[in-house]
Amino acid sequence: MRSIRDKMRSELKDKSIFNKSIEFAYKYMDNIEEQSVYPENSAIENLDIFDEELSDNSTAGIEIIDKLHRFGSPATIAQIGGMYFGFVNGSIIPVALAARWLTDTWDQNAAMYVSSPIASKLEQVAQNWIVDLLKLPEKTVMGLVSGTSTATFIGLVTARNAVLKKKGWNVNEDGLFGAPKIRVIISEGAHGSVFKALALLGIGMGSVERIPTDDQGRILTAKIPELDDTSILILQAGNVNTGAFDDFREIYNRANGAWIHIDGAFGLWVAASSKLKYLTDGIDLADSWSVDGHKTLNTPYDCGIILCKHEDELVSAMQATGSYLKFSEKRDGMLYVAEMSRRARSVDLWASLKFLGKNGVSELVEGFHDLSVELANLLTINNFIILNEIVFNQVLVSCKSSEKNSELLDILQKSGQTWMGDTVWRGQRVIRVSICSWATTKDDINSLVNLFVSARLLLGS
Ligand SMILES: *Cc1c(COP(=O)(O)O)cnc(C)c1O
Repeated sequence: MRSIRDKMRSELKDKSIFNKSIEFAYKYMDNIEEQSVYPENSAIENLDIFDEELSDNSTAGIEIIDKLHRFGSPATIAQIGGMYFGFVNGSIIPVALAARWLTDTWDQNAAMYVSSPIASKLEQVAQNWIVDLLKLPEKTVMGLVSGTSTATFIGLVTARNAVLKKKGWNVNEDGLFGAPKIRVIISEGAHGSVFKALALLGIGMGSVERIPTDDQGRILTAKIPELDDTSILILQAGNVNTGAFDDFREIYNRANGAWIHIDGAFGLWVAASSKLKYLTDGIDLADSWSVDGHKTLNTPYDCGIILCKHEDELVSAMQATGSYLKFSEKRDGMLYVAEMSRRARSVDLWASLKFLGKNGVSELVEGFHDLSVELANLLTINNFIILNEIVFNQVLVSCKSSEKNSELLDILQKSGQTWMGDTVWRGQRVIRVSICSWATTKDDINSLVNLFVSARLLLGS
């Protein structure tokens, strides 16, 4: 019997599993437009094939890849195809995928410079580029995590510790029990992940002050109470339903030195567009920001970014040390995040930015906006109701009542030709279309409108 190590050595040498994998990947890419946007029932039922006991003996690599393609590929969401409008999910930039393949072969641990000089270098370069692209303060530092949920969590841990320090309380040393109360002010329209982060932080929901929003989900600036530098204020660049942005500059003028964190998961990137950057006016006045690569920027999953203007505070919060510490003269990525071992996210983030260039990011962002405006116009002409101002890439659609919207959405989702979700907006269940994939074209928008119209015909209303 060959040992398991010998099997691996020969698979590495022989390359047939890699060739097979590439062959299947190419097939998947080439057939994406024929594939059902949401998996067919039969494909989902076939997933039961994976319910098996772990075998005693090894399974051949080729068999594993084959099984994945045969039963896995048909059960995927066709997210790279251009007709997927669910959540706020982007597609993948081809060269970023290629870079990812190469990086995965490198198998780097991006914890520190010493564990991967290349991951460290590209993290530094990506940081400089992003700070420049978003026009944030020069001293802003960046950490790479799984997504905006984690990035927001890190930003708010840092804010909490910094604010408590001003009150003479050292969280790393003294913990939270018995700590002075701090004020946390948040918009009622904040994303669920922000409330979750606050709960994880030990800031009870009962002690958070929620500020009402206007009809677009923007925080009502005039309702923000008098603050000081021991408060935390959480704002939003891109409401997940409407795409709306808070009025950052005006709010900063009233914030009296409060720590401002901006959740800009998908919206922050509009700062790169000369046409749309008015939406992010004043973001540079904040203290920390969370944003995703895998949404608007279309990087591979998973790519969350925490940005913070106060390097010492971020490093102190993440490393539980009282003062700033540096492991090497070079960049050690783990200083800015909660984890130690991580994959080299910086490589595919760098490849995405390098490919797009400043103009490419702007073109991407403006394209999402143009298509969203187009969709809203065409749906309006066809007597659908658009419930939000199309400031960026989110379109809220209604045909009549909550009930009718749910039925209409059900038809659209089951069509296999597109997929999107719904949300509750101002008490009504409505359909939410997010245009976030580089692959979506004007023709796709026309097809989507036709699908809406024929779905309504089926409803008989
Ligand atoms: C998607 C989203 C999040 C959460 O981001 P993840 O990358 O899924 O963790 C937070 N805030 C907003 C506004 C979002 O759109």
